[in-house]
Amino acid sequence: MPQPPTRHLVLVLGDQLDPESAAFDGFDDDRDAVLMAEVEGEARFVPSHKQRVAMFLAAMRHCREEHEGRGRRVRYRTLEETAEAAGDEPATLAGELALALEELAPEKLILLQPGRHGLETALVEVAEEAGVPVEVRPDRHFLCSTEEFDGWAEGRKSLLMETFYRWQRKRLDVLMDGDDPVGDRWNFDKENRESFGKEGPPEAKEPVHHRPDDITREVLTLVAERFPDLPGDLESFDWPVTREEARRDLDDFIEHRLPLFGTYQDAMWTGRPWLFHARLSTALNLKLLDPRDVVRRAEEAYDVGHARLNDVEGFIRQVLGWREFIRGVYYREMPGYMDRNSLDAEADLPEFFWSGDTGMACVAEVVGQLRRHAYAHHIQRLMVTGLFALLWGAEPRQVHDWYMAMYADSVEWVTAPNTLGMSQHADGGVVGTKPYVASGKYVDRMSDYCAGCRYDPARASGEDACPFTTLYWDFLHRHRERFENHPRMALQVRNLDRKDHGEISALRRRAEELRRDPAAI
Ligand code: SF4
Repeated sequence: MPQPPTRHLVLVLGDQLDPESAAFDGFDDDRDAVLMAEVEGEARFVPSHKQRVAMFLAAMRHCREEHEGRGRRVRYRTLEETAEAAGDEPATLAGELALALEELAPEKLILLQPGRHGLETALVEVAEEAGVPVEVRPDRHFLCSTEEFDGWAEGRKSLLMETFYRWQRKRLDVLMDGDDPVGDRWNFDKENRESFGKEGPPEAKEPVHHRPDDITREVLTLVAERFPDLPGDLESFDWPVTREEARRDLDDFIEHRLPLFGTYQDAMWTGRPWLFHARLSTALNLKLLDPRDVVRRAEEAYDVGHARLNDVEGFIRQVLGWREFIRGVYYREMPGYMDRNSLDAEADLPEFFWSGDTGMACVAEVVGQLRRHAYAHHIQRLMVTGLFALLWGAEPRQVHDWYMAMYADSVEWVTAPNTLGMSQHADGGVVGTKPYVASGKYVDRMSDYCAGCRYDPARASGEDACPFTTLYWDFLHRHRERFENHPRMALQVRNLDRKDHGEISALRRRAEELRRDPAAI
């Protein structure tokens, strides 16, 4: 049947799955069309975890049904179709867009600001080459637009998340009592960040599971067949791929995990990947959940006495504060942000980051968990894998690519500031004012990992010395001049200075041994 002429073509990317996004303002079912395309180039832009690829494809296919159910015309191109059109090269979004513009000849292309800076430039160029006017609309999913963020940031010497967070709380009237924060404090960190002690974590209800339907099962088979070389396993795939599944995850979190979220947000335990964490970031980042609903539900849980203020505030800080802050930083600092390397870190990321094959119990546990679930919670990310990469001196871009690859919730705007900034301090202090460095004793205090490890977190040299502890002191030694007068690092440097020459020589020798043969660690 001949297609009617197309007025507006709305391009929907894999992380823009809200059918009511700003891209659909003024959408006319009779004259406009939606374009969605599964392209291999996105799966291999970095070598994504199989579950990440499957989650994007399954969520896109369900979203297609949602659009069609609303009576919208959708040009949906499957992985097989785009691969056939691309020939020998991996299919790309730019290539698929060019084909669609040629075939549909729309009067205008509409897209939402993509979550990867370079992609917007590439897509706009395609439209310009095809002579099709393009309109890039801001993504109102976020609570703070890029313009609002720039307005807040303008004229500030440094961008402090805490200041931004308070500004957000006030202007959005969240957890506020008039002009004051509920409970008369903005921050309840003192009550949070407890460890589990020797007894281990309290019982926590298993998160809800999502039984794959026909669409998801088909995608899982497709990914297993087409991407056997990508990292990770598919067996335990359990990500929400519809709006309804995402809402069930939110209900489950509010009911069973929020009441201890803040209290144990920094604690880790072997064999307990989810603990009291939210696991909502994939659904939020694909736009299956609205952050306004998430914040409102958490605030209501406090209002009705279901959760305490320290737990609720700690969670809301992540959604309304941190998530929005790093997005603002990303768009403000791009395009140069990806190349930052303020600590001149040049080492290759060790192979065990992919395989988990290491004698370090903490790293083996987290990488094993990642391979199984494409997930590790925030303190595992920051203080196990991120900390090791930072102490190792791994090149920040490699670390970024690894985080993009191994986590189901990775999208460039999220991952770049979290990795290059917060975790690796490669941005020189835009996101965090200091590098988060600690020895193995921190991991020992916050987890049970060290009890089952062949290394000793208290030792810095010798064969049984914990590599984190060795590399921690080595890091301070290597960056001594940079940090000796830093207001938040000087104390750590002074502790280094208390060590005698013999101790420092021994730990530096051990650090060199580790670097010579990472496979033996
Ligand atoms: Fe990790 Fe060191 Fe503890 Fe082993 S001793 S689990 S390497 S922190």
